Amino acid sequence: MSKFDIVVVGAGISGATLAERYASLGKKVLVLEKRDHIGGNCHDYYNEHGILVSKYGAHLFHTEYEDVWQYVNRFSRWYPYEHHVLAKVDGKLVPIPVNISTVNTIFNLRIRTEAEMQRFLSEVQVQPPNEEPRNGEEAALARVGHVLYEKMFKHYTKKQWDKYPHELDASVLQRIPVRTSFDDRYFSDPYQALPLDGYTRLFQEMLRHTNITVRLNTDYFDVKESPEVRECAKLFYAGPIDRYFDYRHSLERKLQWRSIRFEWITLDQEFFQENSVVNYPDPNDGDFTRIVEYKHFTRQKHPKTTISREYTTDEGDPYYPVPNAENEAISQRYREEADKLCDVHFVGRLANYKYFNMDQAFKNALDLFHRIEGKR
Ligand code: UDP
Repeated sequence: MSKFDIVVVGAGISGATLAERYASLGKKVLVLEKRDHIGGNCHDYYNEHGILVSKYGAHLFHTEYEDVWQYVNRFSRWYPYEHHVLAKVDGKLVPIPVNISTVNTIFNLRIRTEAEMQRFLSEVQVQPPNEEPRNGEEAALARVGHVLYEKMFKHYTKKQWDKYPHELDASVLQRIPVRTSFDDRYFSDPYQALPLDGYTRLFQEMLRHTNITVRLNTDYFDVKESPEVRECAKLFYAGPIDRYFDYRHSLERKLQWRSIRFEWITLDQEFFQENSVVNYPDPNDGDFTRIVEYKHFTRQKHPKTTISREYTTDEGDPYYPVPNAENEAISQRYREEADKLCDVHFVGRLANYKYFNMDQAFKNALDLFHRIEGKR
């Protein structure tokens, strides 16, 4: 018998949540993490200049789930942070999601009321032929019409996914709302906050339990036949689902993932741009999707600033599942196999091949725990 009751593969949101929950029941948990740090893609650290940055891009926590908000508050204090994003369009910075200010700036209008904005939108919106949009292009045209679609969504989506919106599920572009007000917050959830001491500290707190052993630099696939892993009663796997099954359903067509390459620059000036995130939907502005400046999130006082340009790529660690019908069909075959396994549970974005936000990842892990162990 293994000296552990539970093996968890991955020390990101899903893995840390399950490890914490099982440790609290008195179970001995072994967490295997391939990378040299905890926190998954939320991992943040002080760079060589002493500026707190997120190694894998900005992570904005927002949720409407009361249970998730209560849960994350057990491991960190949080400060309120409402995210705003600007996009560079026709050489000007406009807020996204599309709202009255966006339209006024791009079309040089003076819309003031929700009724006027509603009228503007209904004049430009293109109804999909079958009422329900079948893909991202139809979804965006139905909300904002041709001009805003071209300027803000079409080419950004190509940079982000290497696919045009018509090649993606409608759900991708429906992630961002269109507002008839002046509300330019990126999210509208009741809880929007950042952890006071950063995300890595949050994960350290979650994993700080005598029942939890974390092994970094340990790839599950290298150690899965070792007795302590093989003989363990339960396994939670938060890695890519196709990797678990040795890519067996990906022979004709690969399950697609998108990754991000970061170009880091530290500048000898206090700030580089006026906002934490500036999106670049115009292909003439470069191949990067956005520039993130971390000091805007952390409010850290520092004479220098670190920014990162993000380039989405096919190569590298998997970050995003690519939502469309082909990938759904392949991932479904993996999911059917996963369902047949009794004591192996697939959890999180990579193992479900689902585009979860952070709070959805916490929720997915907490719900799975409650399904298996009952609500306590
Ligand atoms: N999107 C876009 N222009 C933008 C921002 C987003 O076309 O300026 C599209 C793009 O396809 C993106 C999707 O909307 O993948 C969802 O955006 P979100 O910010 O939710 O993506 P995330 O960065 O969280 O994956």
